[in-house]
Amino acid sequence: MQIYIDGEYYSKAEAKISVFDHGLLYGDGIFEGIRAYNGGLFRLREHMVRLYESAKTIALDIPLPLEQLEQDVIETVRRNNLRDAYIRLIVTRGAGDLGIDPRKCAKASIIIIATSISLYPEEMYENGLSVITVPTRRNHSEMVNPRVKSLNYLNNILAKEEGNHLGYAEVVMLNSDGYVVEGSADNIFIVKNGVLITPPAFLGILKGITREVVMELAQAMGTEVRETVFTRHDLYNADECFFTGTGAELIPVVEVDGRSIGTGKPGEMTKQLLAAFRKERTETGVPIYPCCQYPSAS
Ligand code: PLP
Repeated sequence: MQIYIDGEYYSKAEAKISVFDHGLLYGDGIFEGIRAYNGGLFRLREHMVRLYESAKTIALDIPLPLEQLEQDVIETVRRNNLRDAYIRLIVTRGAGDLGIDPRKCAKASIIIIATSISLYPEEMYENGLSVITVPTRRNHSEMVNPRVKSLNYLNNILAKEEGNHLGYAEVVMLNSDGYVVEGSADNIFIVKNGVLITPPAFLGILKGITREVVMELAQAMGTEVRETVFTRHDLYNADECFFTGTGAELIPVVEVDGRSIGTGKPGEMTKQLLAAFRKERTETGVPIYPCCQYPSAS
């Protein structure tokens, strides 16, 4: 495995950063999770734009222009001979001293890891997930805005842990006003009377790239899509429900807090969108290799 750190490539054993890096000391940094399918990087530009927007909000200077860093992402995947991959792109505040002041960190550090991904088993896509709502509320937008994909993921980890404790693979988070916002690492959608509904970004969610793709696909299918607030009552009484994310893609939810959603099986719109998403992801990526010279799948 070849790991990129600040313009150089290192083996897994040699890829190391300073213990004074504020990414480690304080979670001061940002990241993206990006997928490659069939030799193409899916929605690469959208991930790069979100990374630079996260950086702007936390006043972090990424020491490379977007186009250059985008090429470095492609090159890292190429060097690892991958055609289906999960890419973790990280920008930390860099090494400073033990105080929190970011001005002590001379230069941000960039890390790119390209590896294979472990997925939810296919049967979960066929049968759907049972989930619960958890006590930990999603960060308030005026505190650490969930739109920033920051290295400080404790809010999500606490929610995930509450699900783990009770044996659930994913959870639903509410915001401090009690509105449904998202999963621990996924966006949430419901379907009611043929309308596709998802919480708006201002409510305090990560504005997912997969979420955007799914909204576009639904609109192309002629479905009405609404970004609107909803409560647990609306969730329990939805006809269908699913999560979206780079890792999970689009996964049906069939039970929430012991209540069956709709028929208790993945719904028709969910199935149609999953099929459309699977087609989209393999046909629209940014090419990693010159035409027809993909390394064979192993
Ligand atoms: N919400 C949270 C909190 C996440 O961590 C993620 C993915 O990492 C998502 C939503 C889904 O976003 P995307 O589709 O861009 O992966």
